[in-house]
Amino acid sequence: MSKKVIMVTGGSGLVGKSMQKVIKEENPADEEWIFLSSKDADLLDSQSTSAVFEKYKPTHVIHLAALVGGLYRHLGQNLEMMRLNLRINDHVLEACREHKCQKVVSCMSTCIFPDETTYPIEESMLHSGPPHNSNCGYAYAKRMIDVANHLYARDHGMQCTGVIPTNIYGPFDNFSLADSHVLPGLVHKCYLAQKENKPFVISGTGTPRRQFIFSEDLARLIVWTLRDYPEIDPILLSVSEDEEISIKELAELIAEAYDFKGEIIYDASKSDGQFKKTTTNKKLRSYLPDYKFKSIKDGIQETVDWFKASYPNVRLSY
Ligand code: NAP
Ligand code: GDP
Repeated sequence: MSKKVIMVTGGSGLVGKSMQKVIKEENPADEEWIFLSSKDADLLDSQSTSAVFEKYKPTHVIHLAALVGGLYRHLGQNLEMMRLNLRINDHVLEACREHKCQKVVSCMSTCIFPDETTYPIEESMLHSGPPHNSNCGYAYAKRMIDVANHLYARDHGMQCTGVIPTNIYGPFDNFSLADSHVLPGLVHKCYLAQKENKPFVISGTGTPRRQFIFSEDLARLIVWTLRDYPEIDPILLSVSEDEEISIKELAELIAEAYDFKGEIIYDASKSDGQFKKTTTNKKLRSYLPDYKFKSIKDGIQETVDWFKASYPNVRLSY
């Protein structure tokens, strides 16, 4: 049997780095893996995208590359997040069609579901209403991946699907204080609060609720999606509903991982964003009933230990 050539866009990011680790441990004989960064190809440029497909001739693609950010980045850059993500996704999916890729898995996000909804959120609700205002640009661009997947499948027989992860965290994240996601932002803030003997300041009221998936768990599940998930319809990759925690509980877990004994303060002048986006992983469990996720406590401890060992050589921007 000929080798599968699996190309991963965004292979240098939070999820891409974890996927590199997972594949290195597995070392599959019938698969060749190529992990791209923006240095290998600028996916905003169609010629650069075509050239990298021409160079590696992938038979399979995992499309992770995107303009990503936390709430406070989205609030300032909604239009740009829509335009640039639409462009990247169009270039990648069209190149997959041109190169007759056998399977394509693209990454979406739970923040793209309708804001006004019933809970728990499931895959079928993706297009049932407008997303939360705070990140509507990114959300509509990501929803279009699902629209494109169905059209590429219908019109070209392409085997393409989407994964919908909840908030992701782990080593190699963007730990920027200004525009990262909440978990890496708070890991950095608590580190500084402890070092400088100052309060640990959380943005917003601390009441919003989130589910978190460790990047290595997500990487494993995306690799499974590529190899074994048969549907065009997307699949939520998330921990269960009862593992959802408040931002306050998250801050306390991070403080515990540092053994931080100082004051924790909530700055309610900052936006809370979407209150919650609780998803069910019922569909995932129907395929993988026994998959065991890393606990949030262990995942935070691993991320904090990695951050302390890596500081100041950590990523601070997108
Ligand atoms: P990340 O750490 O910010 O990595 C982004 C990746 O995209 C990097 O490899 C980056 O390359 C690449 N990239 C960005 N612009 C590019 C361009 N113009 N050309 C080529 N490559 C480009 O992101 P992540 O957190 O791993 O996210 C992976 C996927 O998960 C994304 O699709 C994201 O939307 C989705 N997601 C993320 C979260 C989360 O909490 N992080 C939650 C749900 C869904 P360089 O390293 O060279 O810059
Ligand atoms: P979201 O899950 O897509 O909304 O994005 P984030 O990962 O940025 O999480 C935003 C939630 O965390 C909001 O309720 C914020 O008020 C809260 N939060 C608290 N402190 C921080 C912080 O330092 N950075 C970020 N990004 N969010 C924070």
